[in-house]
Amino acid sequence: MNVNMGKNFPKTFFFNCSSCGNNYELTLDEFIVKELPKIIDVDHNRLLEAYNNSNLKFYHSKYLNALQFRKSLGKVEEGTMVCFDNEIHVIRGFPKIRRTLMLSKALEKHFNGEIAVEEKMNGYNVRIASINGKIIAFTRGGYICPYTTKKAPQLMDLNQFFQEHSDLVICGEMIGVENPYVSYYYPEIGELGFRIFDLRKKQSNQPLSIKEKISILKKYNLPSVRLLGIYSLKEAPSNILKLVKELGEDNREGVVIKDLKMQIPPLKYTSSQAHDDELIYAFKYPFDLGKAFFFSRVIREGFQAYEMNESTEELGKRAQRLGESILYPLMETIEHVAEHEVAGEDLLMDADTMEEAEEFVRHLRDLGVMAKIIKFKDSKAVIRRIHQSTTDKINNYINGGLY
Ligand code: ATP
Ligand code: MG
Repeated sequence: MNVNMGKNFPKTFFFNCSSCGNNYELTLDEFIVKELPKIIDVDHNRLLEAYNNSNLKFYHSKYLNALQFRKSLGKVEEGTMVCFDNEIHVIRGFPKIRRTLMLSKALEKHFNGEIAVEEKMNGYNVRIASINGKIIAFTRGGYICPYTTKKAPQLMDLNQFFQEHSDLVICGEMIGVENPYVSYYYPEIGELGFRIFDLRKKQSNQPLSIKEKISILKKYNLPSVRLLGIYSLKEAPSNILKLVKELGEDNREGVVIKDLKMQIPPLKYTSSQAHDDELIYAFKYPFDLGKAFFFSRVIREGFQAYEMNESTEELGKRAQRLGESILYPLMETIEHVAEHEVAGEDLLMDADTMEEAEEFVRHLRDLGVMAKIIKFKDSKAVIRRIHQSTTDKINNYINGGLY
């Protein structure tokens, strides 16, 4: 099917139907009702309803126009983009990864046969696809990220891969300290890097098996997350507990556990230090993030301590770390706001021009993030993200406001 549509909001589409060869004209509504259900397996009434309440939205950008799934719909994941270029390309959303709290029972229940254990990297999720020859990077929600779209091809040579596999989507994590979404230090990465964890088919979202993925990444010399081991279900829990303990001691996040054939959805399991890191972040901005983060991190700690069967001394250390991860950052922020009045987070990014940094800030605003550029020098921009509720509430309380 060929598509040709106006630059901005399309009143009409011109189709060249690949099966009948006829050209015809459709409105966007008509497209959603008549054509979209043939492309993705969702009933037209549900699609139209989603479109009417903006869960399915027309997305206009300088890269391409698309229909964006703001929420999941049937089997179609949130973040799915139906991209209109010469042809229609469907880039499915990256599926949610469920978490296990108790490895020993959960793995046995969930998986079947041998499992692969990969390192879970702490950065932000990116899907990279070639759309009509253009290499484009999408964030989790389906937004095209200008920064990632520029940086990914600089970090890896993607041309040959996409020339030969234009039907595949690269799913990976952008990591490093100069990462304007999630800044995290990895000794092997430093400023900015990319690690691939899945190769998935456009349209169906079917992932390649672990073996196929590894061999393709090797062939094109593309960077993969670390495969930490392949285990039988029997030996997996004790080995994973050991691995995650060691990862934690190196301040690394944890693991993702995968079916070798990728026919069963993966599970994630994270280190105590990762839970504490997230608590530290949450309690730096307590009135913006604290509540949503707090409960689940503490629950994870409880089950991990139980499964690791810790000594009194080990448990004491875990308790101490947990408490410090809450109280210290909270105190620091109260002190900071008392002095400077604003709770903000400074993000560092590479930008060739001020304009590029401004474009990124506009992109953040589209995502609902309040940010502004506070410095631009030597191709580096410092972007300040303001945490407004934390700022307002702390100012109120330190001035006598009642809780
Ligand atoms: P989710 O909705 O997937 O649970 P989340 O925002 O809660 O997402 P995380 O807790 O970080 O995210 O866990 C899932 C994410 O981990 C994936 O979306 C992916 O970006 C990231 N990730 C890092 N390493 C891997 C890996 N080896 N395999 C799969 N995902 C990985
Ligand atoms: Mg993550």
